[in-house]
Amino acid sequence: KKPQQQKKKMEGAALIGIDVAKETDLGEWYQQVITKGQMISYYDVAGCYILEPASYAIWEGIKSFFDAKIKTLKVRNAYFPIFISKDNLEREKEHIEGFAAEVAWVTHGGKSKLEKEVAVRPTSETAMYPYFARKIQSHRDLPLKLNQWNNVVRWEFKHPMPFIRSREFLWQEGHTAHLTKEEAGAEVRQILDWYADVYQELLAVPVVKGQKTENEKFPGADYTTTIEGFIPATGRGIQAATSHCLGQHFSKMFNITVEDPTAKEAGKSEHVHVWQNSWGLTTRSIGVMILTHGDNRGLVIPPRVAEIQVIVIPVGVTAKMTAEAKADLYKKVEDITENLKSVGVRVETDYREGYSPGWKFNDWELKGIPLRIEFGPKDAEKGVVTTSRRDIEKKEDARGEVKVSEVQEAIPALLETIQKDMFVKADKEYRERRVQVTDWKDFVPTLNGKNAVLVPHCEGGKCEDEIKDMSARKEDGDSAAEDTKAPAMGAKSLCIPFEQPEGIKQGETKCINPNCKEFAKAWILFGRSY
Ligand code: AMP
Repeated sequence: KKPQQQKKKMEGAALIGIDVAKETDLGEWYQQVITKGQMISYYDVAGCYILEPASYAIWEGIKSFFDAKIKTLKVRNAYFPIFISKDNLEREKEHIEGFAAEVAWVTHGGKSKLEKEVAVRPTSETAMYPYFARKIQSHRDLPLKLNQWNNVVRWEFKHPMPFIRSREFLWQEGHTAHLTKEEAGAEVRQILDWYADVYQELLAVPVVKGQKTENEKFPGADYTTTIEGFIPATGRGIQAATSHCLGQHFSKMFNITVEDPTAKEAGKSEHVHVWQNSWGLTTRSIGVMILTHGDNRGLVIPPRVAEIQVIVIPVGVTAKMTAEAKADLYKKVEDITENLKSVGVRVETDYREGYSPGWKFNDWELKGIPLRIEFGPKDAEKGVVTTSRRDIEKKEDARGEVKVSEVQEAIPALLETIQKDMFVKADKEYRERRVQVTDWKDFVPTLNGKNAVLVPHCEGGKCEDEIKDMSARKEDGDSAAEDTKAPAMGAKSLCIPFEQPEGIKQGETKCINPNCKEFAKAWILFGRSY
């Protein structure tokens, strides 16, 4: 076949590109971005998805970052079985009540019915704590700090969404036991800070740190701290990761005690229940990253987690070019690539024959590679490479030039600039969408404008339920209805932010809910959410 014909055929064979705008149909857009960007492949069990190498690489990046952090606290990795006995799972009352609706059970082994069904872990508190009870015999065995990188299964019936809400997902779950409440509390906050770093420093996704209300805390926890993300395209909040202080609830049920060292010093023998924490971060984080940064050309991956940070594409190779000139150009491209590799840049070169540079540009843009380097005869003449940033939509603004002799300093610096700019942009957007509201009449309209609202609230559970009810979408079609797949949901409390604005006078400021007689205790972030 003539080369031209062959080229046409190959390009036609793989029609790439996103054909629906993010603003028009987020659901369809998301589906196209994750499949065409080769992050996710579908699977024939509902709510379960294949994580392709490109997304797994991001998970590995998160894993190595966070794993290194927790090791500084002397947390050790271990692995517990995926199955939990019914007796153990049901030991802590609030815990099982919270999870009962989502537990998958194994009832058969082959054809025979099991005498006692076993649960597939939805989380591992009840799998691990009988072991904690055996291991912790004395205060000298404290603190005990374990973590596992594993999968869990929650048979959710809410609309599944790859990464964001799947029935099986990957995560880490940390489980620790401490002698004192203070020590446990300090760890809860340290872990939360690192979760925020994963989102903000690696994924360039802004989050708000805070505490869950009683209504929204983890089943069986004393209190839950959380980082809350936000998807501007739908105006919905999303729980990004949680760090729980379990208090002594589980240690009482699982009988995890030590002799109190201070009582012992005083000549008495008293046993105390240990203080426990658990904390988890899941593959949901990748979904939040995609929803935050992706655009109408596809994925946009922040440099720090991108499997490939830079794609080098030779350009201006024409049929008229001599073999010698082509070899010379490719040699220069190779040198640039090697120079970048030697300073730790994750770089690939696209030498594929039969594809035009334009086609290759689209292909790598779809995959979200943060930076493209083009190098052709004109660049060679000038002694530069042409750069094109993925995070800037306007073509002219995205382009730049770097001297070939300076790529080793300039390209890593440019990648860091991209990383920072992506965060700044997303952070600005989220800040603008957290709207302080003090009058109930503004509550629903502000939500409908795709915002989260920060309101004075009494922290009462019943009051929260009322607000959820009163802010549920009615059938008359409001401005937030683009997200058609979302249920007609009301707003729930996302968190009580640690960073509290001024303005609440205790015993004076009213709760936002007009039907509530209580005074406001704090500013609470409410929103429709995932
Ligand atoms: P939990 O153990 O319930 O506190 O969950 C830990 C974290 O897992 C939450 O903060 C969510 O970010 C995330 N998460 C919860 N459910 C899912 C799900 N179905 N798929 C992915 N991530 C989830």
